[in-house]
Amino acid sequence: MATTADIVCVGSGHNGLVAAAYLAVAGKKVLVLERNEWFGGGVVTRELTVPGFRHDQHSMAHIFIQANPLLMNDDLKLKARYGLRYLFPEVPMMSVFEDGKTLALYRDTQRTCAEIAKFSARDAESYRELSEQARAWLPMFTSALYSPPIPLGASFALLDQSREGRDLFRVMSMSTHDLLCERFENDRVRMHFARIAGENLVSPDEKGTGIGTFVFLGFLEGYGFGVPVGGSGALTDSLIACIKDHGGQVLPNTNVERIKVAKGRATGVVTKDGQAFDARDGVIGAIHPHLLGGMLEGVDPVVRKAAEATQFSDAACVTVHAALNAPLRFKAGEHVKAVMIELLPNEYEQLRRSFDDLRYGQLSQYPLVGIGSLTMFDPSRAPPGKAIAHIWDYAPYERRDGASWDEKKAEFAQRMLTHVGRFVANVGENDVIAYHCDSPVDMERTSPSFMHGDLHGIANTVYQSGSHRPTPDLGQYVVPGVDRFYLVGPFQYPGGGVFGAGRATAMKMFEDLGLDFDKHGRKQ
Ligand SMILES: Cc1cc2nc3c(=O)[nH]c(=O)nc-3n(C[C@H](O)[C@H](O)[C@H](O)COP(=O)(O)OP(=O)(O)OC[C@H]3O[C@@H](n4cnc5c(N)ncnc54)[C@H](O)[C@@H]3O)c2cc1C
Repeated sequence: MATTADIVCVGSGHNGLVAAAYLAVAGKKVLVLERNEWFGGGVVTRELTVPGFRHDQHSMAHIFIQANPLLMNDDLKLKARYGLRYLFPEVPMMSVFEDGKTLALYRDTQRTCAEIAKFSARDAESYRELSEQARAWLPMFTSALYSPPIPLGASFALLDQSREGRDLFRVMSMSTHDLLCERFENDRVRMHFARIAGENLVSPDEKGTGIGTFVFLGFLEGYGFGVPVGGSGALTDSLIACIKDHGGQVLPNTNVERIKVAKGRATGVVTKDGQAFDARDGVIGAIHPHLLGGMLEGVDPVVRKAAEATQFSDAACVTVHAALNAPLRFKAGEHVKAVMIELLPNEYEQLRRSFDDLRYGQLSQYPLVGIGSLTMFDPSRAPPGKAIAHIWDYAPYERRDGASWDEKKAEFAQRMLTHVGRFVANVGENDVIAYHCDSPVDMERTSPSFMHGDLHGIANTVYQSGSHRPTPDLGQYVVPGVDRFYLVGPFQYPGGGVFGAGRATAMKMFEDLGLDFDKHGRKQ
């Protein structure tokens, strides 16, 4: 095992792997060190319940990475040479209401309009306009997402120069709820889109989230929800195959304790069990802002203080992964088939109040449960005739009753399954072969990126977005005062989700290493 490489990467999450793979393809010797015995962080598929049932422990739908040149142009040939394949189901998302009504969001605008018209003809027309606007803005969104962020001041100044820019700025400042009330009259339609915002761990009432609806719709219709064949981990597998093909190594069970710095430059890492690895050219780190100061020598105390002041979302995630005797049978009918299925109350106000409950640190009175049962599209993930389900809900990280999540997670999982039972006929004791539950505390145990059970690392608030994510000091993937150390993670721009954002970190590194990204950042 080599203990010296050109680039040492701390963590095998997809973002670290993407950055490392670009450098490997450019001819650098890379070494990736992962604390877990498995690879991929939030992009992993594991037999969490019983053999033969393959569950996506965290991410399951790869949405925002689809427009990344990494996949769009197949920069690293993950598709052409390393086995990555996606399915794009025609219904990415569907809402199922308590009373059995459903509302599907298709990739096809016409079909979505027909669905919305079941609730309001006027809203169907409004949707058409919304979708047109999202399509028009999409190239602008995609041109900004996969490279280092433009400084916030400059981007606001740019927006202020045209009517369209000012319109965009208005939407960026609004809450999703404000936007939905302006565009739609029907509460079910409003709730459907409000729940989408909720998947970003924010209440629809949070100001500064209105733009999310346009980004989401633009991607949903323009690119679809990618479901990797075989599971989310197929992306991780293809990245590792690419790195190894270029002479790199990826090691499990290697927990990095600190980054070595000499004369203001990162030179390697030391693990918790005392092993040292040297980096000739630089170190990549999936290091959460709350941990950065303790792991990286020489961080300016002011920079460290701001990093440690970054804030978490009120909505921590709890998941239940179930191995099922048979595919889910929705009471609303056999047509319920989508990548993400949201179980919703009849009243929009109830949904909004559920997010309010979280804001006050309480369990939401009406659970915010979503389901993905990807054997609907990819039966290879379970034995013949069987199925899997990924069920999620949100809860406070710190429980009001003072109990620990380890004590209470089984009870919470049961609450989730009972709620699902109101919508699905076959999730009783005899239907669920086994299940695995991750509480918010388990989330952060699987990866420090998911600290506090925040699946985006830190909250997606305006003041922690754009080039100010996670802080204005750290927004360009580098740490002032420490050369050759580069950040990746959901807490960096553009934020949580499978974006392949490590590409932007790689661009920064190429520049410092004197490599031409356009020339060397592609596998020939
Ligand atoms: C329950 C859940 C569901 C989600 N669903 C979706 C979804 O459907 N679609 C979507 O787009 N996104 C989803 N996400 C978000 C997405 O998974 C993450 O944003 C993404 O995986 C982050 O990738 P990353 O590489 O930045 O970080 P991570 O995946 O967290 O990778 C960081 C890696 O570094 C390792 N590491 C950290 N510190 C050290 C150290 N000191 N030494 C060695 N190794 C270290 C960690 O163990 C981890 O493997 C979900 C997240 C969760 C938690």
